[in-house]
Amino acid sequence: MQQIITKAFQNKGLKLTAQRKAVVATMQTNHSPLTANEIFALAQKKYPTLGLATVYRTVEILYQAGLLRQVKTKYAPAYILRHLPESTIFCTGCGLDSPEPADLKAALAHTERELGYKANTLQVVGLCTDCSRKIS
Ligand SMILES: [Zn+2]
Repeated sequence: MQQIITKAFQNKGLKLTAQRKAVVATMQTNHSPLTANEIFALAQKKYPTLGLATVYRTVEILYQAGLLRQVKTKYAPAYILRHLPESTIFCTGCGLDSPEPADLKAALAHTERELGYKANTLQVVGLCTDCSRKIS
């Protein structure tokens, strides 16, 4: 994961500086979605020189590289690191990634056969068991 993150910055011609590392480390140790302000507040305790702009920029780079899930909250979008980068099933409530079941892969193959469509991803976006229980 660390290598993928470093690469995401290199692709933008940027280095994974100590400040950016602090943002990544904060996201890695918190397993719930965090807004940029929350990341800033948590990371600043350990890295007092960290700026809010760095947090925003770092989150943006990681998000553009597909390494974060965006979760909508009441106030601001929250972000969580993806744990299964190849996964295409995720919860919009908590950002949880779920592994693809075999029959979903079969559905993708079926789409290719029937429609001649060169599909490489099939996204399932919704609420995980825990989040749907919270709502009902
Ligand atoms: Zn969830």
